[in-house]
Amino acid sequence: MFSRRTWMKGAAALPAAAQAQTAGKPKNIVIASANGVECCNIAMSWLRAGKDTLDAVIAGVNVNELDPHDNSVGYGGLPNEEGVVELDASVMHGPTRRAGSVAAIRGIKTPSKIAKLVMEETDHIMLVGEGALRFAKTMGYAEENLLTEKSRLAFLVWKRTLKDPNGHSNWSDGVDAPPGKSPKALLRLFPEADEKTLAWAHEMALHPPTGTINCLALNEKGEMSGCTTTSGMAWKIPGRVGDSPIIGAGLFVDQEVGAAGSTGRGEENIRVAGAHTIVENMRHGMTPQDAVMDALKRISRNYDNDLKRLDKFDINFYALRKDGVYAGGSLWSGQFRNTGFVSRQFAVNDGTGNSRLVNCPYLHERPR
Ligand code: ASP
Repeated sequence: MFSRRTWMKGAAALPAAAQAQTAGKPKNIVIASANGVECCNIAMSWLRAGKDTLDAVIAGVNVNELDPHDNSVGYGGLPNEEGVVELDASVMHGPTRRAGSVAAIRGIKTPSKIAKLVMEETDHIMLVGEGALRFAKTMGYAEENLLTEKSRLAFLVWKRTLKDPNGHSNWSDGVDAPPGKSPKALLRLFPEADEKTLAWAHEMALHPPTGTINCLALNEKGEMSGCTTTSGMAWKIPGRVGDSPIIGAGLFVDQEVGAAGSTGRGEENIRVAGAHTIVENMRHGMTPQDAVMDALKRISRNYDNDLKRLDKFDINFYALRKDGVYAGGSLWSGQFRNTGFVSRQFAVNDGTGNSRLVNCPYLHERPR
C-alpha cells in the first residue's frame, strides 16, 4: 500500500493524468471490513479458480450472512424495535456496470444473493420490504426465521432496559420509564440465560451496535465487483434503511477507476454519498488513501468538526483501485469495548496466503 507520504511526494511532481498512467497491472486482490477475514479467503479462492468477481465477493459475504454468531449481518442479525430482523444489501458488477439492491427485506438469510437477482433478473435496481421478499420467493427462496435465540435475548434485554446511559428511554423519557437494569438484575428476569450472554445482551441494549460487511474484489483481468450486506442498526424503526443498499453510499464500483464501500453509521455516509465520492476522488487523481480521508473529512465537516458530537458514532471506508492499490480509513482511531480499546482494522487478501488484518488510518484520535 502507498503511504500517504509516498503519494504526497509523487503528487507534487505529477499532474493527475500522469498519476493515472503510473498505475500498475491489475492482480487478484480482495479487501473487506474487519469481520471479513474468512470472507476474503473464500473470495480469493474463487478468484483463483477463475470465477467472476461478483460471484467471488458474494460467496465471501455469505459466510457472514449465514453465521448465526455474526450479529450484524444476515441470519442472527440484531432485529428492529419490534423484534424483527430486517436486512439491507447491494451488489455492483464492474464488467457489466450493473447494480442491484434490496432494503428492509425480512425472512431471507442471504440478501446479497437477492440483490444479485434484482440486478440479473429485473429491469430495476432496488426492491424494498414486502416487495423484495415476494421477489425472493418468486426466485425460489423460502422465508425463514432470522432471529436466533441469542439475538432474541438481546432484544428482550433491550426492551426491559429501555434506557441508554444518558437516561434516555427509547419509548419515552417520561417519569414512568422503567429504570435501567444491571446484568445481575437481568439474571432474575432471564434465569435461563447465562451471565456472559446476559452481559453481552446488556451491552447491546446500552450501546446499540451497527455492523456490516463490505467486500471489494479485483482480478487479474482488471474486473472488479463489490457487495455490502447488513442487518443495519440494532433496534431501528421498522423500515429504516441505512447506507448499505444505497448505490453510491454503501457501495460503488467503476472498474475503470476502482471501488469503494463503507461500514458504520449509515446516515452519515448517505449524506456524503461516500462510496461514490471516493471513486470520483480516485478518478481525479487522488490515491485510495487520500480519497477515503477526504470522504471522512466531509463527514466531520457536517458536524463542524465538533469532536463531542462526532464521538457518538463510528464510520469506516474501504477503497480498491483498479491496479490493486487499496486503503481503509476510519473516522476514529478505534472504540472502547468490554475488552478495552480496540483499534480500527480491515481485512486484505492479496493472493499470497491467508487474509490479514491491517490497521486503518484514521481522522480523529479517540480520547482515552
Ligand atoms: N452501515 C450500516 C447501516 O447504517 C451499519 C453498520 O455498518 O454498522 O445500516
